[in-house]
Amino acid sequence: MGLLIGQPSILTIAGHPGEQRAAGRVKIFQNLIDAAIAQALSRFSKAMQGRPHFIQVMAGDKPALNAKNLDAFDAVFFFGAGPGNLNEQQMQDLLAFVKDDGKGFVAAHTGDNAFQQYPDYREMIGGLWNHPWTKSENLEVDLPVIVEDPSFPAMQSLPSAFMVHDEAAVHLPPYSRDNVRVLARLDLTEIDHDLARDPADNDVPIAWAKRYGKGRVFYSTLGHSDQSWDNPLVQRMFFDAIRWSMGLVEGNAEPLGQ
Ligand SMILES: [Zn+2]
Repeated sequence: MGLLIGQPSILTIAGHPGEQRAAGRVKIFQNLIDAAIAQALSRFSKAMQGRPHFIQVMAGDKPALNAKNLDAFDAVFFFGAGPGNLNEQQMQDLLAFVKDDGKGFVAAHTGDNAFQQYPDYREMIGGLWNHPWTKSENLEVDLPVIVEDPSFPAMQSLPSAFMVHDEAAVHLPPYSRDNVRVLARLDLTEIDHDLARDPADNDVPIAWAKRYGKGRVFYSTLGHSDQSWDNPLVQRMFFDAIRWSMGLVEGNAEPLGQ
């Protein structure tokens, strides 16, 4: 077992020893990963090594994202932002990987702020980043989080309520509680509303899940701060989300509505 993070890296994750399925393989999607994000992923990956699962990172030449290369993986872990550098065919391949092949897609933080030029990507991830919940001078604050669906695999290891030092966000459609299953939200009864950029922002999801065709998609707004990536609760959440996205554990992603 080894870990190598750099440009690029490929993360492979195996399930519990008792799980009958072959080891799942997860690709950390390196497109558009700047230094800060690479550092965050490095912290995440190092933390994952201490899990009762094992993670193997293989280094190699930067693989082009295409249908053939994606075939080797069971899930993509994505942490990027902005328009990205995938051409239309590459985006089609990524979407088909999830929708048609039934693979997983797990995204952190600005994941729904990426590829805005591709409406189908927004549909897959289930939202479009609008703006941080907080005013710009105060992006990172202690966020009180409430778990809404403790039965979902990515939530099972979390307390019903907890604090995390991070940045929360408000999302535009296709985000809707009718389109995604909200798993956790910012507890607006426990936070100083003077921090809010807009008092009208009263639905602030922290994590959601959804199906996309045959595939499984998980997204969490967490991941802005080093403290968050170092937080065992956050690490555990993403780790369990990855396992769900690969189909190693079951979880209901049906939207619960308003
Ligand atoms: Zn941020």
